[in-house]
Amino acid sequence: MTRKVNIGNVTIGGGSPITVQSMLNVPAGDVAGSVAQARALEAAGCDIIRAAVPDREAVRLVPAIKAAVSVPLVADIHFDYRIALDCVAAGVDKIRLNPGNIGGEERVKQVADACRAAGVPIRIGVNSGSLEKHILAKYGAPTPQALVDSALYHARLLEKFDFTDIVVSIKSPHVPTMIEAYRLAAEQLGCPLHLGVTEAGTARIGLIKSAVGIGSLLCDGIGDTIRVSLTADPVEEVRAARDILKAVGRGGGPEIVSCPTCGRTKIDLIALAGRVEEALADCRKDIKVAVMGCAVNGPGEAREADIGIAGGNGEALLFKKGEPAGKYPEDRIVDVLLEEIEKL
Ligand code: SF4
Repeated sequence: MTRKVNIGNVTIGGGSPITVQSMLNVPAGDVAGSVAQARALEAAGCDIIRAAVPDREAVRLVPAIKAAVSVPLVADIHFDYRIALDCVAAGVDKIRLNPGNIGGEERVKQVADACRAAGVPIRIGVNSGSLEKHILAKYGAPTPQALVDSALYHARLLEKFDFTDIVVSIKSPHVPTMIEAYRLAAEQLGCPLHLGVTEAGTARIGLIKSAVGIGSLLCDGIGDTIRVSLTADPVEEVRAARDILKAVGRGGGPEIVSCPTCGRTKIDLIALAGRVEEALADCRKDIKVAVMGCAVNGPGEAREADIGIAGGNGEALLFKKGEPAGKYPEDRIVDVLLEEIEKL
């Protein structure tokens, strides 16, 4: 079990529910645009929002976003420790920074002291593309253990100043490397792990890579918070992350079970399933909803579902917990299903 780390009003680690993170992608100088995107991410179900703070001027994002959303805000900082100090003073909830990159122990101490005083944790974000030279020289390549060694190197710099309120991510665009690295990290580190496949790609392949990488680790009981990186609108990242949580049975909202259709199907199941999925996109209830093509196998195949429909000829059967609960015409069944889900 990992340690618990509090990020504002959200706890990660120590068996807490898996949280979903995403990152703003509008230019940091655009405060109004950043605020609007933060609101959109919160509405989509993002539990923790991260924003790049590339210079001291961009620190003004912190109070602006904090005033607009109630989810915690993480400042993503590279190299300049003064930005970290400014963000802490501005009320940020977490810092993402690698202490080995900020130019010496005195600066690490200042950041550690400021974060400790404010109760602000630090995420160490190791990436296979930016490993330290001494670690690359030892391993010759960004191997899984090289990535973990890098995380340990940064963590020890903070621990030197009694700072242990740490979260670690160890990302690689190569899914098998990422999986192995996190497995090693789970054995060698006691802090919460932030899972992600970095530079995963565009919406479809990025989701597939993330689902394989993040999903496998979650199935092994590894991982405390997740971020799906997509070359797409970050709202898509949140939806993808929630779908991964649903797929591994770790929350995220309704899990829709729908059959592939076959020669027995006599209703337009593909359209019906699409409507149900769209209508439930922002629903947070952890229920299983079945959308099946026929009444012969439908209820049986979806017996585990809380509620569902099974298609007939121009009509469909509603069922709850595998038991029939009324027959409705094809053009009304989705509305009836949604009304019933509302009541659950
Ligand atoms: S539930 Fe019925 S329609 Fe759907 S695939 Fe199975 S047999 Fe075919």
